Order: sequence, then structure tokens, then C-alpha cells
Amino acid sequence: MSETIFNKTETDTLIGNFFDFVRKSPSPFHVVENISELLLKKEFLRLDEKEKWHLEEGKKYFVTRNSSSVIAFSLPKKKLTGFKICASHSDSPSFKIKENPEIKSNSYVTLNVEKYGGMLLSPWFDRPLSVAGRIYCKKGDSFEQRFVNIDSDLLMIPNLAIHMNREANDGHKINVQKEISPVFSGNESARLAETVAEYCGIDEKEILSSDLFLYCRDEPKTWGKSGEFISSPRLDDLECAFASSLALALADSQNEKSGSGDDFAFVNCVFDNEEVGSSTMQGAASTFLSDVLKRITLSLCLSEEDFYTILARSFMISADNAHALHPNFCETADIVNRPKINGGVVIKFNASQKYTTDAYSAAVFKDLCARSGVPFQIYTNNSNIAGGSTLGNISQNHVSIPCVDIGLAQWAMHSPVESAGKKDLEYLFKALKTFFWRKMIS
Ligand code: ZN
Repeated sequence: MSETIFNKTETDTLIGNFFDFVRKSPSPFHVVENISELLLKKEFLRLDEKEKWHLEEGKKYFVTRNSSSVIAFSLPKKKLTGFKICASHSDSPSFKIKENPEIKSNSYVTLNVEKYGGMLLSPWFDRPLSVAGRIYCKKGDSFEQRFVNIDSDLLMIPNLAIHMNREANDGHKINVQKEISPVFSGNESARLAETVAEYCGIDEKEILSSDLFLYCRDEPKTWGKSGEFISSPRLDDLECAFASSLALALADSQNEKSGSGDDFAFVNCVFDNEEVGSSTMQGAASTFLSDVLKRITLSLCLSEEDFYTILARSFMISADNAHALHPNFCETADIVNRPKINGGVVIKFNASQKYTTDAYSAAVFKDLCARSGVPFQIYTNNSNIAGGSTLGNISQNHVSIPCVDIGLAQWAMHSPVESAGKKDLEYLFKALKTFFWRKMIS
């Protein structure tokens, strides 16, 4: 095997763990469940929003909302003076399975789905797909939530042969309602609820309701001459959710060893519903983060006035993936600022403030990268292209603090299989470790 360009042990271990995380996380519910599992292993205590909180300095906690967003935090041993916050998202573009999904069509059953987020449609064809999400059942006097991941190649959306659509390669417009109906069974009486009930070990009639989504069954993998690229479903934004969760989970023990803990609380948020605008009770536009920050302050017997001074000293990193220069479409990139795969963490700028980065927050993040021994690169839109938006400016509505928008360079954003750089994940992990673990210059 040819020599790889990276340190094999560290990079490969991190990538291997990330691939495992992606495999186990086909829906936002699973993302939050797997992050929660990591936090519990690292002695974070689970909180319930419905209960009164009795927090103690020096301890670590986490709380979830709707089982699809999570906020974890590690409190300083000294009096709290600020929050270091990282935010990413748990959801990815997909298709939600509609109520009564079975469509009977000439002895086949296909499923009725609708778009969740804005995705590239054509790569969803001709790939094995399956179903993940959650259901609700009634158990005694209460409802029970069950997570679902049908771990088999259950569905496929076959393309129409070129012979029957000679225009297929000439800008064919995809009709979602007609064309994106995955084939489920060759038996006309088959029902999806039957398969879901079997997975859960319950009777079909016990299922009251569901939030079920399609997911791509492709395996995460490394590729390229030196194995320098990675491809996987849901790189946006599981790379950032994984790196930030791991950096926070490992932060406290490191601080104890090095004695470098400061008087900031470290806060890591992974929000659902970024792909559909964040305006849900658990999204970045909700009060979830501001509620948690306020409750932390009050539970530590600090006043409302303290809360505002603590907030004024705080800083946020909004971590969501970025567009890499595409070698076949160089004209779509800015003419100067062209992030490269494996070129380091990307700092995103936008004059309309779709990205929150300004001179101050960029200075803070560049310094973090320098102190982490990590390269950074700059993304700006081509001035003729509107570009996307992300969590940072949305969360500013409730938590108005300096914020930098960053991410990892990737290709094929919002395709069911996206590509990125093997080394970049490690760069982000290192930068976020420095953010949480070491004193921030402000
Ligand atoms: Zn994203």
C-alpha cells in the first residue's frame, strides 16, 4: 500500500470513530441518542427540562429537547463568568414518509414521501435506502417513544431507462410526487407499519404515530490516491456534531490534568431542523439555548443581572460544513477565496450576515487555529451566487453574542453521499479542543 500523507494512528482512529457514529446515526433521534451515550460514558449527568435543576460548579450535564436536539455543558469550578458555545445540527436533507404511505401500483407497493430540506434529487435514485426515525405507542397511562432503524436494504428508487427518456441527460426536471416514490414491495398487500412493528417487536395496531425518514444505506469510506478523501451520507453536519461533542466530552478530564480550566462554562449544542429553517421548538431559532443558559445561571444562585454580564463575555462558534472549490466547476467559487479539501477549517464570511463572522470573531478563531497548530482557510460566496445560511445568525435572535461561522470543506453538499477531507475532521477537532480546553483571548 502506498504511503499515506497523514499520521495513521490519530487520523485513522478519529475517522474510524466518526464512520461508526455515522453508521449508528441515520436520523436526528439517533444522532442525539449516540451523543447522549458518549456524554453518559464521560460522566455527564442527564437533566430533564420538566424538573427543577440543582447544578453544582465543576460538574457536567446535558439536556435534550424532542429527543432530536441536545445541549451539553461543563461548568467551571470557579464562579461562572462566561459561556463558550459551539453549535451544529443533527438533521440532514431527506424525505419524510407521509401518513398512510403505501401507494399500490400494478402489483407493486411504493411509498409516498415528501422533501425534508433542499437536496440534490438525482443521486437518491438507484441506491439502497431504508427507513429510520421514531414511533409513538401507548403503554398503560402514558405514551412511549421508540426509535426505529430498519437495518436492511429496504427500498430503492429505480431510474427510468434511458431508452424511455432520451432527455434524461439534457436537464430532466424531476417530479418529486411522481418520481420519488421508493419501491417497497412486490406484494400489493405489504404495509410499512408491519415492517416497523416487527422491528420494534410489537403489534402493528400499537403504533399510534411516527416521524420516519428515508436514509441512504451507502457505507462511509475513504478514497483517493493516498486515501485522502472521505465519502459518507450526512457529512453535513455530522462532522461538526461529532467533532464538537467529542471535544466537549473529553474537555473536563483534560482540564483536571492540566489545570487549565477557566471560569467559562463549555456548552455544545446540536440542533435539529436546520435544514428546514430552524423554527421549531427544538431548532436553533427556538428558546432552547437561551433557556438552558439562563437556567444554568439561576441554578448557580447568580442573578438575572449576572446573566447579562456573563452573556456579554460569551462567544459562539457556529459549526456547519462549507463548500470546497469543485475542480469541474471552478467558476462557481469566489475568484480568490477557494477552500480546498484538507486545507484546514473554513471561516465563512458574508456581507449580508447570513454568516455571522466579523473582524472580531474571525480574529478570535484565527488565534484558536494558530494555537492549535491547525490551518484555516476562507470562504466567501461568488458575488453572483446567493449561497446558503446556517445556525449562527438564527440563534442570534435569542442569544445575541459574538459568533464565528466555520465548517469543513466538502463537495456535493445535500447529496445523499457527500465528500470531504480525511485530515480536515482532525483539524476541526483540534481547534474545538483548544476552544473548550484553553483560555480564550478576547
Ligand atoms: Zn449544514
